[in-house]
Amino acid sequence: MSPTSRFDIQLAEPRLPTADRTAKMQNLSFGKVLSEHMVVVPYREGEGWLKGQLRPFGPLSISPAANVLHYGQAIFEGFKAYRQSDGGIKSFRPRANGRRFNESAARLAMPEVPLDIFVEGADLLCQTDHEWVPGTLDSERLHDESYYFRPFMIGLGDFLGVRAAEEYLFLIIGGPAGSYFQGGIKPVTIWVEEEFVRAAPGGTGRAKCAGNYAASLLPGKLAKQRGCDQALYLDSTHHRYLEELGGMNVFLVLQEGTRTVIATPEKTGTILEGVTRDSLIIVARDLGFDVEERRISIDEVEQAHRTGALKEAFACGTAAVISPIGSLMSRRGTWTINENKVGEVSMRLRAALLDIQYGLTPDTRNWMHSIL
Ligand SMILES: *Cc1c(COP(=O)(O)O)cnc(C)c1O
Repeated sequence: MSPTSRFDIQLAEPRLPTADRTAKMQNLSFGKVLSEHMVVVPYREGEGWLKGQLRPFGPLSISPAANVLHYGQAIFEGFKAYRQSDGGIKSFRPRANGRRFNESAARLAMPEVPLDIFVEGADLLCQTDHEWVPGTLDSERLHDESYYFRPFMIGLGDFLGVRAAEEYLFLIIGGPAGSYFQGGIKPVTIWVEEEFVRAAPGGTGRAKCAGNYAASLLPGKLAKQRGCDQALYLDSTHHRYLEELGGMNVFLVLQEGTRTVIATPEKTGTILEGVTRDSLIIVARDLGFDVEERRISIDEVEQAHRTGALKEAFACGTAAVISPIGSLMSRRGTWTINENKVGEVSMRLRAALLDIQYGLTPDTRNWMHSIL
């Protein structure tokens, strides 16, 4: 099937004047500016996925009894497209996000979206709104601009009984994203959360569902009241092993004798398996680092901080790529990492991944997907 037979196209009329678009694309931050179109694909049980639409970005009309408003059938994804040095546009591993989207869908008893709809829908949106794809990547790899896709699915229906919806909408919106860090990269301060948990075995921690985020807002807010940027969650059984932040995976850089080891919590079924996490593991190994996916206890972190073995720590995800962690705070005290400075290994990995994404380094793993 060609994209045009999969989607009806209705363009925004009139388009936003160039001067207005240019103004909106100044000083970009994350998630504040959305481009002019969106993709909407309806699903009905018994009929499957119906013909989708590319249409002007705008409000949806749904029943007040829709499942998503009461029982929270809502999942989402996030990935980016990057302006290449030749002016073209490529997205990063969109199929990996599509596969994860379907794993999230399965966990929430929602229908899977065929990968072609997922990828072609994003391509069509970005092709239509290509003028909204910014281009900057500075030489230090600190300031990176891209186009962020936000695919999501919601359960509809018109019935208050508790059960999976029979109707759904799959949508993709997106917009230009600037550096996650305004005014340069600043290491974040993280609260080690020993009370609230993000996910439990058998729960939805591995699914990118809206409810996980709703549940992380209070601990996030409390962390901010303590002067921290975000919370780091521990496992729900022992309250001891590192899991991840509310929306980012976590890595440590450890010095073990002469070896520099990059360690990250193993996939336990309760962490969200980040595409950035996976990509950084591969990139780090390509750069010759030892990477370990294993259990990391907070006691180990405390000890590594005490002995000086804890050289760097960082969080990672599509939005921020790599966000250095400058200190960890908890009831046990404050552990400053790398003098609260941006670490060398963190920045090397960040630059290596960005260089692949912007086409400055050969794409040996076939991660890049051509859009335009
Ligand atoms: C999306 C997300 C991540 C990061 O995933 P990426 O694919 O790297 O963007 C990490 N943790 C949580 C909880 C997430 O929702």
